[in-house]
Amino acid sequence: MYVDVLVPLPLAGQFTYLLPDALSSQTVVGSRVVVPFGQKRHYTGIVTRLHAAAPAGDVKVKDVISVLDPQPIILPRQLKLWEWMADYYLCAEGDVLKAALPSGFHIESDTLEQYYRPRTESRVCLTPAYHGSEHAEALSGFIGSLRRAPKQQAVLRRFLELAGYEEGRCLREVSRHELLASDDISASSFSTLVEKGILSVYEAEVSRLQKLALSDIRCMPLTDVQQHALEQINGSWQQHDVCLLHGVTSSGKTEIYMHLIQEALQRGQQVLYMMPEIALTSQMQQRLRRVFGGRLGVYHSKFSDAERVEIWKKQLSDEPYDIILGVRSSVFLPFRRLGLVIIDEEHENSYKQQEPAPRYHARNVAIVLAAQFGAKTLLGTATPSVESYYNATTGKYGLVTLTQRYQSVQMPDIEIVDIKELRRKHRMAGNFSPRLIAAIRDALSRGEQAILFQNRRGYAPMVECKTCGWVPRCERCDVSLTYHRRLSQLVCHYCGNVYRLPARCPQCEEANLVHIGLGTERIEEELHALIPEARIDRMDLDTTRAKTAYERILDDFAHQRTDVLIGTQMVSKGLDFAHVSVVGIMNADTMLSFPDFRSYERAYQLMAQVAGRAGRRDRQGLVILQTRSTDIPVVSQVRRYDYRGLFDSQLAEREAFRYPPFTRLLFIYLRGRDERRVSEAANAMKRRLDTLFGSRVLGPEAPPVSRVHGLHIRKIMLKLELNYHPHTARQQLHQLLADMSAQGELSGVVTHFDVDPM
Ligand code: ADP
Ligand code: ZN
Ligand code: ZN
Repeated sequence: MYVDVLVPLPLAGQFTYLLPDALSSQTVVGSRVVVPFGQKRHYTGIVTRLHAAAPAGDVKVKDVISVLDPQPIILPRQLKLWEWMADYYLCAEGDVLKAALPSGFHIESDTLEQYYRPRTESRVCLTPAYHGSEHAEALSGFIGSLRRAPKQQAVLRRFLELAGYEEGRCLREVSRHELLASDDISASSFSTLVEKGILSVYEAEVSRLQKLALSDIRCMPLTDVQQHALEQINGSWQQHDVCLLHGVTSSGKTEIYMHLIQEALQRGQQVLYMMPEIALTSQMQQRLRRVFGGRLGVYHSKFSDAERVEIWKKQLSDEPYDIILGVRSSVFLPFRRLGLVIIDEEHENSYKQQEPAPRYHARNVAIVLAAQFGAKTLLGTATPSVESYYNATTGKYGLVTLTQRYQSVQMPDIEIVDIKELRRKHRMAGNFSPRLIAAIRDALSRGEQAILFQNRRGYAPMVECKTCGWVPRCERCDVSLTYHRRLSQLVCHYCGNVYRLPARCPQCEEANLVHIGLGTERIEEELHALIPEARIDRMDLDTTRAKTAYERILDDFAHQRTDVLIGTQMVSKGLDFAHVSVVGIMNADTMLSFPDFRSYERAYQLMAQVAGRAGRRDRQGLVILQTRSTDIPVVSQVRRYDYRGLFDSQLAEREAFRYPPFTRLLFIYLRGRDERRVSEAANAMKRRLDTLFGSRVLGPEAPPVSRVHGLHIRKIMLKLELNYHPHTARQQLHQLLADMSAQGELSGVVTHFDVDPM
């Protein structure tokens, strides 16, 4: 017997090994095996095929060393999906394997004995004296009596919220861990409640979590408008596998998703619910937990490796989660009866993995995954990507539109403030216009909150010597450094390298260094000086590195322990806060100046999304949009919520300049330490490409940041018309690389492809 094995290496193809007789009874397709590789190395690979065909030629076939799983940990459909990804995104299947499998699975010592050992956890419940509708009054009386013990009250309230307490009954089980998870819950107050006989603790097996009965799932009733949309979605799925739900912010898209999830569960199907960023999942997790209880599992990279392995195994077991909430990596989880895929905020470019390979678009992979199961896909957003909206208006996808906010609250009023004019008149306080400061003050005086958005982190994107014009740059990358004041450091946002801020200019020795531009840290400092009594928090890459940082920041804001939340695009999406009445867009111009065919689309999406955070529950919110470019069309499109206008103008441009969705883009990157080498290789590749693809080849060019991590970069672009067969293109490209390598034209150069770049 032979097995073909896929190893986690960026190499094309799979490798054949001999399966010793002793192992052959335990080995199945999809199980892990340890195999020798090269001279001395061992790898954990996945069996993709068992067969009797000895490899051709007189290669010495090595033996499989051991088998780790008696049952497959990768299902056949997953192997198929990986194969598709490697083919479509022009990378090695080993790259896909590496991205797909939690690295805990790559460890050899994780052997079969450990396979699915049930784990227990401590759970919390109400004692019998306080549980049940007959004791509901006693419970509320007790809560009232805790007025002087606010910490205990907070613990009890949090418990009831997590348990979905309703008319005397708890709808779901609560673990001690999740109850004590946030900083505002005191463990000693919890113990006091246990001593007083209100709460009690018991041990339960995690994997045998009691499922919330289907009949206990209670979604909120939909409004007539939402109900109509739900029916339209179901109707559109009769003809299309994919439906786009274009609904303004706060129209109740999430409520509709929950009804669709409930319907899928009733059909006995599983649901994959994807969000673009981990920051968003914690709020959504709470919202979905309240309704679906222990049927929901969450999966993303902030979980430890052991936790991810555990979820993966649970999905393989007889009692998998019915609903998986996750970010892009959740498309890799094993499913057996997937029936519905929801892709929230489908326009987000964080669905695209940039680095390393596979450079996949999780929205598109999820659509392929759904197709494998004959499942339906719903793309939801207030600001569709041009590609998806084009698919929906040309009949490839279904389209359902919601134009009204829940309870017909008006969309926030967007006021444009001309900061160029105000600066000229010296009326700006730092980066704040008088109108913005007044609006924030107003909101705070009414006990409301504000969100301030700036798409750059750090203090200032650039430092410059006012005397001689010297700008500190990264030694390894071709970019200027960002100043981070709190750390008093200069940071390269491309490679992460950190430098000390010199006291004097190293070129002219004058002490005349100034900060240019605006980052979130500077906004925080300025606002603190302007409104000292405001409680301010900041959410960006720098403040959210710790595992629970997102939760802490969002939880503080949700419970109004902070008044103003400042942040990068992290604050722009999906979050639903009841008391935010003002949103400030600090400077729209930084979004409009990117040299990219998507920059207007993105600017519109970011601004419309962040604007949507204002006034979400009962009354109209206010958005102050500060810009120097008041006359740019996209600014007035945002002000009027004119998505259609944005779409039509962008589509016309895309057609005129032959960009997606009218063509397919494929970038080829060449990187290397020696700039001359890289440049020569790029030119050689260009000549070869020209003979194959003619005028479809553009470049090579040095990208705007042409050196990163000490590697020089060249980029070649292919623009393929839609009827250019992708399979042919892929074969041509593979062949071309093989030819160039054989001729030594790629020595010292690393290449990679980026298919459908974002
Ligand atoms: P979207 O996802 O479109 O931004 P949400 O589903 O988050 O909108 O709804 C916005 C707010 O309105 C949420 O607080 C939600 O709970 C509330 N809401 C929407 N629809 C309903 C409904 N049918 N019943 C009760 N509350 C609703
Ligand atoms: Zn100088
Ligand atoms: Zn750098």
